[in-house]
Amino acid sequence: MSSDLMAVYNRAPVEVERGEGVWLHTTDGRTFLDCVAGIATNSLGHAHPALVEALNRQADKLWHVSNIFRIPGQEALATRLVDNSFADVVFFGNSGSEAVECALKTARRYHAVSGAPERIDIFGFAGSFHGRTYAAINASGNPAYVEGFGPRLPGYEQLDVDDIAGIEAAIRRPAAAAVIVEPVQGEGGARALDEAWLRRVRQLCDETGTLLIFDEVQCGMGRTGKLFAHQWFDGLAPDIMAVAKALGGGFPVGACLATAKAAKGMTTGVHGSTFGGNPLAMAVGTAAFDLIAQDATMANVLSVSQLLKDRLGDLVARYPDIAVDVRGKGLLIGVKLIPNNREMMATARDHGLLVAGGGENCIRLLPSLLIAAQEAEDAVARLEVAFAETRA
Ligand code: PMP
Repeated sequence: MSSDLMAVYNRAPVEVERGEGVWLHTTDGRTFLDCVAGIATNSLGHAHPALVEALNRQADKLWHVSNIFRIPGQEALATRLVDNSFADVVFFGNSGSEAVECALKTARRYHAVSGAPERIDIFGFAGSFHGRTYAAINASGNPAYVEGFGPRLPGYEQLDVDDIAGIEAAIRRPAAAAVIVEPVQGEGGARALDEAWLRRVRQLCDETGTLLIFDEVQCGMGRTGKLFAHQWFDGLAPDIMAVAKALGGGFPVGACLATAKAAKGMTTGVHGSTFGGNPLAMAVGTAAFDLIAQDATMANVLSVSQLLKDRLGDLVARYPDIAVDVRGKGLLIGVKLIPNNREMMATARDHGLLVAGGGENCIRLLPSLLIAAQEAEDAVARLEVAFAETRA
C-alpha cells in the first residue's frame, strides 16, 4: 500500500510520533532537533500549549459548517490580518497553493471586470515556487514542475530576476495582468530579493496598472522578523498576497489578502472553498497570530537568526570545501553546499539534526520562531559534525 501514489515523496526514514518545541521524537525512540518545522509551518514549535488549548477548546464546540453560514472566528483572524497589513479583505483556504490560486484568480478577474479582459499575462520568476496545483505550477519558476502536465496554461511566463530590461518589457505589454513574486524565495534556496528590485517592480506595476502579488506563504508570518517580509521596506506593499504555512501554526490554513480595489471582481459566487476558514483553523490561526505578532517573538527571530548567521558563517569559513555561503533572511536560512545537499541532509540526520533541502544545492534551516539561542548553537554543532564527516 502506498499513501502517496507511486511514491511522489522521497521520504526520509523518520517517523515522528511526538514533538515539543524544536524537538521531535520518533516511533523508534530517536530524538531530533527540528530545523524544518513542517517546512516553515510549525513556527511556534511543536505542541505549543496555547495552540493545543485553542484547538481543543474549539474542537469541543464546533468543527465545520461550511461557508454557506457565518463562521465564528473568521472575523477575528481576518481582522488581525487586515489591521497588520496593506490589505482590506481576506479569503481563507486551506493551503499555500489555494492561496496562490485565489491570488491569481483575483488578479485576472480584476482586469476582466475593469473592461480589460485581454490582460491575462501572469509573470513569475526563475527559482520561485508557488505550489503544486495547475495555476501554481504554471506560475512557478522551475520547468520540472510542469513537465508532463502540459499543455502549459496560456498567459503564464517565467522571467529572470536579473533581467531588469526583460521584466520591464514584459510588464509594459498590453496583456500584462500580474507579477507574482516571493520576496524571499524559499524552495529556490533562501534567496532574498533586494529592496531596489522590489521597488522597481512595484513602480512598473503602478505605471502600467499591472497587479503585484507577493507570495509570502513561506517567508511571511514572522519568519524574517517582521510579520510579512515585504514590511522590511517602508511603504512597499503588494496589491494581493498569498499566506499560509505558519498562519495556522501547523494546522492547515491559507489566506489570500488583497486591497479592496484589487479584489473588486471577487463577487458572490465567483470563488469558494468548503473547508476554507473552518472554525478549527480559525481558532488555531488566531492563537498562532497572537503569539507570532508579539514583540518578544520577533525579537527572538532577530537575535537567533543573527546568531545562526554568524555561527554558520564561521562554519562556512572553516569548511570552504563543503559550503559556499550563508543566505536568506531571518529564520529562513540557506547554506549553499558543494557536496550533494540530499546526502548532507542524511548525514545531519545521523547526528540528530533535521534540515530541509533547497534550490541551488542548499540546505535550509527553518526552525521554530521561538528556538532558543542554545538550541541554535546545538544545531550548528550538529551540522559541523556532519560537515566533518562529509570531509573525512
Ligand atoms: N508558495 C510558497 C512560497 C511555498 O513555499 C509553498 C510550499 N512550499 C507554496 C506556495 C505551496 O504551499 P502548499 O504546499 O501549502 O500548497
